[in-house]
Amino acid sequence: MRIFTVGPVEMYESTLKVRSQQLPYFRTTFFSDVMNENVRLLKKTLYTADSSKVAIITGSGSAAMEAVVTDSFDENDNLLVINGGSFGARFSKLCDIHQIPHDDLKLNYDEQLTRAHLESMRGNYSALLVNIHETSTGQLYDIHMLSEYCAQHQMKLVVDAISSFLCDELKMDEFGVDCVIISSQKALALAPGLSMVIMNDNFYQEKVKDKPIKNLYLNLNEHFKNLERGQTPNTPAVGVCYELLDMLKQVDQVGVEKIIQERARRATYFRSLIKPLSLTTPSFKLSNALTPIVFKDGGAIKVYDYLKDTYDIYVTPSGGDLRDKIIRVGHMGNMHDEYYDDLIKKIQEVS
Ligand SMILES: *Cc1c(COP(=O)(O)O)cnc(C)c1O
Repeated sequence: MRIFTVGPVEMYESTLKVRSQQLPYFRTTFFSDVMNENVRLLKKTLYTADSSKVAIITGSGSAAMEAVVTDSFDENDNLLVINGGSFGARFSKLCDIHQIPHDDLKLNYDEQLTRAHLESMRGNYSALLVNIHETSTGQLYDIHMLSEYCAQHQMKLVVDAISSFLCDELKMDEFGVDCVIISSQKALALAPGLSMVIMNDNFYQEKVKDKPIKNLYLNLNEHFKNLERGQTPNTPAVGVCYELLDMLKQVDQVGVEKIIQERARRATYFRSLIKPLSLTTPSFKLSNALTPIVFKDGGAIKVYDYLKDTYDIYVTPSGGDLRDKIIRVGHMGNMHDEYYDDLIKKIQEVS
């Protein structure tokens, strides 16, 4: 089996080794040290101050999205949601469910987000929610454009970087990002099970601290308080916490910049391979995390099925209207150029 999917992704040998160990009991100072180190390295990797708050939640990425939306905002806010695909739609739906006033900036497929889109929104907004890489389309939004817009309008900036972290540059404090959401099974290349919230102290003080409790499991104040001493309110995905430490240590050793460079090189390499074929990529700016391949005249499902049924190879199919038009090929995790050479050869066998 080979997966070119966007999560889970191909894991590294060292992660698989960590995964095979017996899990220890976790209400110990030993485990607290593991979590403290995770917190320290997460802050370092995201280039944020030591005063920033971290929550490590057991749950997939959507759990962290829900925690941030419910615990930071209420009926007195008015949010601007960049809704350019299914993950943007998820932010919007969370606001609906929790009755938080919001406007959606909707994008059609193949429409690049511009400053003019932002200027056309007329509300008086307190914050902007964005999936900086909208994984469902492959579009990477311009973080500097968004951050500048937010600064000019005194808005907080919440960035879901679940599929962008470690693939595209994200320096939290320097880029003016107030809150970042990530999760284990995408660019971190770990098992699913953990999602993380990192927010600066200013955002915490203004938006989260001392707010009425709205939920038990996702209560960010409880998570922050517990993690100050290296613990979580409930039983965490203990094994994934160990995988996380193993990965963050390696990222720290190699350097975030180098890792992002390598992912960029890999994405560029794959895109160079599809150029000679009669396939295209979208015109908007792409993340280094994945490449969408556009089949103008359809046929994407046939390729997906052929690779799956003939070779046990999985690319990422698309949903809805795009189902027969686009497959997405991931560059996260333990990938090699030969995998892409081989994939292109096999895609060409179809039709
Ligand atoms: C995968 C992903 C999520 C979270 O999805 P889960 O299935 O809940 O892990 C959220 N946002 C983006 C941009 C994603 O790629």
